[in-house]
Amino acid sequence: MRKVVLVSLDAFFTADVKGLNPEGFLAKMLREGAFCRRVNTIFPALTYPIHVTMVTGCDPDETGVGQNQPPQPGVPKGERVWYWERKHIRVPTLFDAVKEAGGRCCSILWPVGCRNPAVRWIFPEVHPLKGENPVVKALRFGTPGYILREEKRFGKLRKGIAEPWLSDYAAALAMDTVRRRAPEFTAVHWIDLDSARHHNGTFSAGAKEAIDRNDRRLEALWKAMQETPAMKDALLIAVSDHGQEDIRETVNLTRMLEQYGLDRRFFVQSNGMSACFFPGGEYEPCDPRQVFTPEQLREMRVARLYTREDLDALHAVQGPVFAAEAAEGVAFSDALDGEKREAATHGFGPGREADLCLFAVYGRGVKQCEIPAMEMRDVGPTVAGLMGLELPRARGTDRSAELLE
Ligand SMILES: [Zn+2]
Repeated sequence: MRKVVLVSLDAFFTADVKGLNPEGFLAKMLREGAFCRRVNTIFPALTYPIHVTMVTGCDPDETGVGQNQPPQPGVPKGERVWYWERKHIRVPTLFDAVKEAGGRCCSILWPVGCRNPAVRWIFPEVHPLKGENPVVKALRFGTPGYILREEKRFGKLRKGIAEPWLSDYAAALAMDTVRRRAPEFTAVHWIDLDSARHHNGTFSAGAKEAIDRNDRRLEALWKAMQETPAMKDALLIAVSDHGQEDIRETVNLTRMLEQYGLDRRFFVQSNGMSACFFPGGEYEPCDPRQVFTPEQLREMRVARLYTREDLDALHAVQGPVFAAEAAEGVAFSDALDGEKREAATHGFGPGREADLCLFAVYGRGVKQCEIPAMEMRDVGPTVAGLMGLELPRARGTDRSAELLE
């Protein structure tokens, strides 16, 4: 089995490629390796479902993970659970394929990667809810021995879950694990750029700095791989999940439904630049285009409604009866407990530039080429193909033959 280190550069997208520092490592990866800068992401463009699609090769209608959080009507934002655990994914993952072939996996802050019996070393992507102890929670959701050992060595790099320190920490863990254990499959998620964009804006100086930090992390990780004899032939693969767009206005749809007297028929879950409507206690089947008046749609800043048929055609998850996409520059909120202002976000529908993500492969035997387009569901089977494995349940296509010499 060919070893792979898979790095997710959260919120990196096609527009970032031309702005890359030509002296930087990612530019070198693209120049010398194989890549696609137009990987079509899924709807809605949210981190958790996309990372699940990446490692399964399936869309949310098959994985069962279509948003970051399960629907939790009436629960304040800060108290909601997320799809943290492997058990939420209904289909086999790359981690399963590696383990079945006798390989060892490591996952560091990989979304929906907690409590995964196929993974030997888990640093969990999970956060404490009200009244929970962060250390106890991490130990319960990850691999306790691994977390404690790494925390002793690198804990000083971290400031809780604040960025950019958390991504520095994740990079340090990945390098250390590569050096000491040389896993067959390492998956690591860097949130730095996503966080910088949410806080400062899509093309802000803060975002540029985060791209440069990711560049340096990638270079250091590649160096660690090259210095480890058991990793010398491994491939370094960089992927991304979605871009972002700037926000000028936020509309609280929970409040709007209350105002329109529709809050018993539906409850709404925000995806940032779109929102999913779920059936409430007094729901009766309806055509979403008849639910709101044109005036209400304008007031809610809805640019587009997606019927259940539209959602099925997009392979969106089951559950929502319809969805709405916000007008440009508008974000939806469902908060019951006050707003957190952000400069940019994602969660939009298909056809935006920020839907186009990166897939880049670097290492021995990789062809120097650019693939014009890919689907997010192709990532899983392609990574499996590069490793010499298969993801039999994947709906995406294995493109690995096009990437190797
Ligand atoms: Zn993301």
